[in-house]
Amino acid sequence: MKIVAAKKILKANDQLAAENRARLDAAGVFCLNVVGSPGSGKTTLLEALFAQLKDRLKPAVIEGDIAGSIDSERMERIGVPVVQINTEGACHLDANMIASALKEIELKGIDLLAIENVGNLVCTAGYDLGERLRIVVLSTSEGDDKARKYPAIFQGSHAMLITKTDLLPHTDFDLERIAADFKRLAPEGAVFQVSAVRGDGIAEAADWLADKCRGN
Ligand code: MG
Ligand code: ZN
Repeated sequence: MKIVAAKKILKANDQLAAENRARLDAAGVFCLNVVGSPGSGKTTLLEALFAQLKDRLKPAVIEGDIAGSIDSERMERIGVPVVQINTEGACHLDANMIASALKEIELKGIDLLAIENVGNLVCTAGYDLGERLRIVVLSTSEGDDKARKYPAIFQGSHAMLITKTDLLPHTDFDLERIAADFKRLAPEGAVFQVSAVRGDGIAEAADWLADKCRGN
């Protein structure tokens, strides 16, 4: 019997992630890993951020989905170069998939590479993709208990973007509770409240991201 320990797989992933990071750094591309549940609003958030940043940054996207290319088509519609990864069942992206996708992207002239991970709050936490920054997207309709139930994904994130704040009057989502939980898990983490449909908070989040891209 042969047993492959999960720890070894993750170690191999870490090595590939470091190679991805070195490659992206050498190309002057800042890489962002966007994680969150299915339906949390990751794609809509990216669309809003890119619109806000259009005069400052040239983005590209890697879309991770189990199947289909719906989100990639949305990126194409707004003129953002995109590579689709279909994981065919796998519930997260790994550094090896990103290494393959990078071969398909012309990095020249790109400032920001956003990776939209597969919608999942669990194992996406365990896979470094080679990013410089990870943001976790949480919508008000998902409930304010998620940081307590899925601490790892919040712990390793540089910012939490609370989306769909326009729905707040229809939920019992407690902004203070989730902010306190996030602060406990990620003391340095930034918190943004956004509504992509109304445009609330998008400018602040975009400014923060642009600063990070510039190395601040
Ligand atoms: Mg999406
Ligand atoms: Zn997974």
